[in-house]
Amino acid sequence: MEKAERPVLMPMTLKQVAQAVHGRITPAAAKGGLDLPIANVTTDSRQVGPGSLFVAIAGERVDGHRFLGQAAEQGAIGALVSEEQADADLPQVVVEDTVQALGQLAASNVERRRALDAPFTLVAITGSVGKTTTKDLLAAMLAKLGPTVAPVGSFNNEIGLPLTALRVGPDTRYLVAEMGASQVGDIAYLTSIAPPDIAVVLKVGVAHLGVFGSVERIAQAKSELVRGLRPHGLAVLNADDERVAAMAQLAPGRVLRFGLGGAERPDDPGLDMTARDITTDDLDRPSFQLEARGERPVAASLALSGEHNVMNALAAACVAHELGLPLEDISASLSAQGRRSPHRMAVSQVEEDGARFTLIDDSFNANPDSMSAGLRALASWKEPTGGQDGAAQAEPYRVAVLGGMLELGEGTMDLHRQVGALCVSLGLDALVAVGGERGQLTDMAGAMVEGARRASAAQGSKHAGMRLFQAPDTGQADRFVRDLASGHPGCVVLLKGSHMSGLDALAERWQSGR
Ligand code: ATP
Ligand code: MG
Repeated sequence: MEKAERPVLMPMTLKQVAQAVHGRITPAAAKGGLDLPIANVTTDSRQVGPGSLFVAIAGERVDGHRFLGQAAEQGAIGALVSEEQADADLPQVVVEDTVQALGQLAASNVERRRALDAPFTLVAITGSVGKTTTKDLLAAMLAKLGPTVAPVGSFNNEIGLPLTALRVGPDTRYLVAEMGASQVGDIAYLTSIAPPDIAVVLKVGVAHLGVFGSVERIAQAKSELVRGLRPHGLAVLNADDERVAAMAQLAPGRVLRFGLGGAERPDDPGLDMTARDITTDDLDRPSFQLEARGERPVAASLALSGEHNVMNALAAACVAHELGLPLEDISASLSAQGRRSPHRMAVSQVEEDGARFTLIDDSFNANPDSMSAGLRALASWKEPTGGQDGAAQAEPYRVAVLGGMLELGEGTMDLHRQVGALCVSLGLDALVAVGGERGQLTDMAGAMVEGARRASAAQGSKHAGMRLFQAPDTGQADRFVRDLASGHPGCVVLLKGSHMSGLDALAERWQSGR
């Protein structure tokens, strides 16, 4: 048998898995392999290696139970299933619901790590926008203090969070978890698996407004993170968002506040982490004075474009500083490129068929807050001219390529019309609204165009110059953009839309020059 990989989780055997999830061990399992150490846990059969525990999940499109054979071939030690697969040559632990069992297993992993006589800190982050960005910034900072586990992408739901928590091993010092909600109760469930020592709440926006029904319900959902803190846990709250600031009342212990101070009232207790004198460079990357309560400010610059990222940086800085990282080290970490999750304000140069442009790829997802932040970043974009006096900057030709924003409920069409209008009032040069296979996305693209048209008409000739295109699919959007770019040197293109609109694939096509 191939040598199992070094475990990434707490020492655990199949027998212990069965105990933790109250599962039934299949007769085949009873024969052997029950006491071998599990190397890692995965729900993706392609990632199974020697010693893996494969968790079969029946998804909407594929049922993981079909891949037990493949998992066995790749060296899995066993599988967690909801239906025994008699023909698979693999020990199985049978439970009612494998997603729930995955949660129980992750909870037991975290609990067992806590039981060790060595410090361990679990930080959880939520908010309508900025979770992944903040998670990446914070994980890079904490890695300077000790072994840190954090999800690679946006693993923030009932499957992604447990998989991340199952990478916590005896040596792990910090876990940075992202917790997302698409309904009330989601975050309460996630905190029951991984109860945080520190809860960070970024912003209550209108993401998933359709499912929640109201902003108040969204605030309630996010507040579950503060309610889910361990006894004496620390709440780290955005003082600039009054709904977040109000969560201080729910905190079981201390509260730290970060922000720019915009919404501060005279009776507020002041900020624990703030940024002063914010400026941006030609790639729209912010620089500022980073100031912790009672300390001398330190200069900091972000490797990320967009002023909205200052908030995310302050949240990460607030936690890292509390955990003992000096401001100088925080500043150094912020300006290092660090590990970035893909398709988030990623800037690159595209060159093909005579069309050259700067691509701001923010195609990972979109909601009204992040859309408006992305469009503002585009509007303030400056291209270096590369001329002799390096300081001179040309006004670029600014193109927004936008897909629909899903899950916004009744107000959907209005919110899309507002996006179109915003493009006009920001003075962008062109809007390419992209539809998709789903009729819904096409309607949304239509609403953006309609909003832009109305706004140009209302605002008169000064704003009437924006060019408008509606593309039925990403292929047509590709052609529009190439035409625009070949006619306008110094073109900069923002790509943004809900994941379903498929703009990330367009970004990848451009980046690979296909
Ligand atoms: P998801 O719920 O999709 O996992 P997230 O909360 O993890 O999202 P990020 O992936 O960090 O958020 O960022 C998503 C988008 O929101 C990006 O397009 C980014 O530019 C934008 N964004 C990030 N932070 C902010 C902010 N503070 N205000 C407005 N927009 C933001
Ligand atoms: Mg995310």
